[in-house]
Amino acid sequence: MTTVEVKVRRVLHFINGKYENSSDDQTFEVKNPATQEVIAVVSEATEEDVKKVSEAARTAFDHGPWRTMSLSDRCDKIRRMAEIILERREEIARLEALDVGKPYSHAFTGEIPRAAHNLKFFADFMEKQGGEVYPMEEAFLNYTRYEPVGVAGLITPWNAPFMLTTWKLGPCLAAGNTAVIKPAEMTPLSVSLLGEIAKEAGIPDGVVNIIHGKGSVVGTAITENKNVDLISFTGSTTTGKAIMKNGANTLKKFSFELGGKAANIIFEDADLDKAIPVSIQAAFLNSGQVCLAGSRILVQRTILDSFIEKFKHAAESLVVGDPQDATTKMGPLVSEEHFNKVKHYLEIAKKEGATLITGGGIPVLAPHLESGYYLEPTVYYHQDHTARICQEEIFGPIVTIIPFDTEEEALAIANDTEYGLNGVIWTENLKRAHRIAHGVRAGTIWVNCWFVRDLRAPFGGFKKSGIGREGGHHSLEFFSEAKNICIALN
Ligand code: NAD
Repeated sequence: MTTVEVKVRRVLHFINGKYENSSDDQTFEVKNPATQEVIAVVSEATEEDVKKVSEAARTAFDHGPWRTMSLSDRCDKIRRMAEIILERREEIARLEALDVGKPYSHAFTGEIPRAAHNLKFFADFMEKQGGEVYPMEEAFLNYTRYEPVGVAGLITPWNAPFMLTTWKLGPCLAAGNTAVIKPAEMTPLSVSLLGEIAKEAGIPDGVVNIIHGKGSVVGTAITENKNVDLISFTGSTTTGKAIMKNGANTLKKFSFELGGKAANIIFEDADLDKAIPVSIQAAFLNSGQVCLAGSRILVQRTILDSFIEKFKHAAESLVVGDPQDATTKMGPLVSEEHFNKVKHYLEIAKKEGATLITGGGIPVLAPHLESGYYLEPTVYYHQDHTARICQEEIFGPIVTIIPFDTEEEALAIANDTEYGLNGVIWTENLKRAHRIAHGVRAGTIWVNCWFVRDLRAPFGGFKKSGIGREGGHHSLEFFSEAKNICIALN
């Protein structure tokens, strides 16, 4: 087993190129979710600190060199950040496993390289952008310029802190904005490194700033701050609503990537040898703490028994253990509060009459993990797709198998949710795949796969899963103001 150094790290704000304490020296502690050991003491920002960081970002935008430097210089620096992330990949992946409780192997092979790619992709993509030109007969010529919006508030959740922050930071910086990053208070470790990484890459002071603290205080203060022009937020639907209200007075531009409750629809002609392992991943990756999780597994009744048997076996074979261990496939939940919330759904499922297929308990693990926030991979069967466990985003390792008979019924169940982030379809019938893909009201549909991303493609949610799209030119448009210039030619 590999261990990370047991030490309590000190995490500070990064303001105008320097790591600093809060103005009142207040701090809070962060624990390792696998052991409950304290791993970090983090500066807790006051409203005064938010004022200071927003002013630093504003000054860097209005008067600094970032916005006006040549595009290739700007993009070179962003690409350099990506290189440094790859150079420090093991260290960052270890921190992510320590802080979030996700398996190190997933962070090392998946999320951290993707974080580097997020930055490199948007730097490369920005350099290839053109604009529109509209000649008006012989008299006038219109052309467009895409200019940065200003100061961006980037507010991110705890489930993939580093990857999701760079997903916003890449297009934000490439478009010429400055940033105030607010990572989730439960998982600040990896994101706090972005300050020194930006500095080493030659990004001017004040362009990348990071501030820590509670969402209700720091997140609200960023949202209400007049120096902040836009908010790119990933997190829960409830917080999205609060941000929208709090940002109304300063008329902010918003992009929201919110919760999900995806239907993973398995038709009788599905290739189960592929569908089962991928559906297991979709259910239990990061302990089910994934917005795109396939947590409602809709199975055609003709294959229900064999699907349940195989899925149960695969869920029971998942190695649950220490996130730092190379063989671990599932770690703990992120925090005590979240653990209690997820565990409560076990009681709800019982009350709702769901049939437990496997799991539902605390796994037996090595002694050093006994106080970790672990739950077994849990699978229920429920006939009634309107039950709470089939409707609410549990955000843990609990999924429900729901039967259906016809395509129409599958579609009706899939769409009977307030969310619309994504959907998954398993069938070997091409026409059916297209029909269902068109019918499911969600932003991303995967057919015979899951979690495959092309960063050029739009990403975002229908209904209460979000507002706007990120990815490719969608991200750049969000982080830019389009300007039309009209020139008289005579
Ligand atoms: P959360 O909404 O509780 O917190 C997200 C961030 O918002 C944190 O940094 C938090 O401090 C901050 N925050 C909290 N209250 C705030 C307020 N009033 N004003 C401003 N900021 C505030 O979400 P979470 O529990 O960290 O993350 C889990 C949620 O994120 C799930 O619903 C999940 O589906 C969603 N998520 C969505 C995507 C996506 O791409 N759609 C990706 C990952 C996670």
